Amino acid sequence: MFTPYQHEPLTDFTVEKNQRAFQMALEEVSNHLGKEYLLVIGGKRITTTEKVVSINPANKEEIVGIVSKADKRLADQAMEAALKAFETWRKEKPEARAHILFRAAAILRRRRHEFSAYLVKEVGKPWKEADADTAEAIDFLEYYGRQMITLQHGVPVLSRPGERNTFHYIPLGVGLVISPFNFPLAIMAGTTVVAIVTGNTVILRPSDRAPIVAAKFVEVMEEAGLPPGVLNYLSGGEAEVGEYLVEHPKTRFISFTGSRAVGCRIYERAAIVQPGQKWIKRVIAEMGGKDAIIVDKDADLELAAQSIVVSAFGFSGQKCSACSRVIVLEDVYEQVLNRVVELTKQLIVGDPEKPSTFMGPVIDETAYNKVMHYIDIGKQEGKLMTGGEGDSSKGFFIQPTVFANVDPNARIMQEEIFGPVVAFTKAKDFDHALNIANNTEYGLTGAVISRNRPNFEKAREEFHVGNLYFNRGCTGAIVGYQPFGGFNMSGTDSKAGGPDYLLLHMQAKTVSEAF
Ligand code: GLU
Repeated sequence: MFTPYQHEPLTDFTVEKNQRAFQMALEEVSNHLGKEYLLVIGGKRITTTEKVVSINPANKEEIVGIVSKADKRLADQAMEAALKAFETWRKEKPEARAHILFRAAAILRRRRHEFSAYLVKEVGKPWKEADADTAEAIDFLEYYGRQMITLQHGVPVLSRPGERNTFHYIPLGVGLVISPFNFPLAIMAGTTVVAIVTGNTVILRPSDRAPIVAAKFVEVMEEAGLPPGVLNYLSGGEAEVGEYLVEHPKTRFISFTGSRAVGCRIYERAAIVQPGQKWIKRVIAEMGGKDAIIVDKDADLELAAQSIVVSAFGFSGQKCSACSRVIVLEDVYEQVLNRVVELTKQLIVGDPEKPSTFMGPVIDETAYNKVMHYIDIGKQEGKLMTGGEGDSSKGFFIQPTVFANVDPNARIMQEEIFGPVVAFTKAKDFDHALNIANNTEYGLTGAVISRNRPNFEKAREEFHVGNLYFNRGCTGAIVGYQPFGGFNMSGTDSKAGGPDYLLLHMQAKTVSEAF
């Protein structure tokens, strides 16, 4: 028997020993920057002449690593390798597959600070955020491994006298995993290993903005005993290589995390049945959010302000779950707004390598320009209370920004910014607040800060989000405790880290024998 799943505790950086260990990991990782990581196809390392360079967003001069750039020919090779490996991997005992995940978790646990240090370097995560990302990757490995063991014999169904019916799950085939930059370890690892543990083989296309952490994770999976061809690492190569694989007749499913525009495009392209294709492709997509926190008139206002600030500005607002809309009942609007502004001004923004930094940069120049553009729009649509400035001379830094008195239909209330920008609006009463909260095409996370029990129950029914939180912020879902995924344009209603997530990567088979 396995010990029951428990989520990985976060590192306490107030303990000096932990601080020193993390500092040392950062120094150690600094000595290994600039290395080249090759494609991995069928267990072989393959290099290309064209490269993608991954830079540190807090320090543009620093090259974190270099990866090869795949093309369509290599994509075909990866598909061949994955198809071949599928023939044996799908027959591997589920428990044996799970053991590889548990071993990988153990390796990550031992190298925890090293991986977190890479996250600091590659995407500019402050210590705490990087540590949580690594912990979440461990959680996915431990949780999905156990889930597979639970599911290995299928689910009981009824049998009548003279027959025996069974119902069990088999894998799908080759999955294309396209992972995002914002949780370059946790989400990349989670979406990859869930596909693997369920018996599929994978072509992994990590974000071009964070390919190094993914390359290092592939090494961990190899060390844990994953056979060649089960996980193929295909970095770089522009959107057209991704699209080529989405359209490939042998692709069985696509697991995507990223922007709504790309997710919708994948959904559309995957729907077209190609010559030689024998199945309807499955798409699992986690796409984005425009997440709101509602503050009720009798709420604990300090809790509200703290929750808003952490949810809006954690990892520079670059989370699908980030709070970008705050809806406050008019009775307490000024108080909450003023306290949020006060707390925001106290945040330490800057070098993510310093332990005291709360918020680092945004990921790159494109993101920087996009967020700064939204800040300009915000200046037209609302009252700038704090922030509004950026500095991209060394890295891509943007001040945490609060806008007040914004109309619920304004662009900064409707469009996903994916940066450290939050907009406030006033509600007449709780029903009005819920109406505003639901006035969005997304439906990922939301929170209600209140002391009013009937209002919680109303929100439970009416607030249309996949992850609803009461009296806490709207980020930081824990694997196995708060399965994560949203409604409407936030994705395909799938729940990562939840009890039904594995089933999305399998198909059920009924066998009935008459005696
Ligand atoms: N699971 C993360 C959270 O609960 C967010 C994931 C994402 O941004 O894609 O905050």
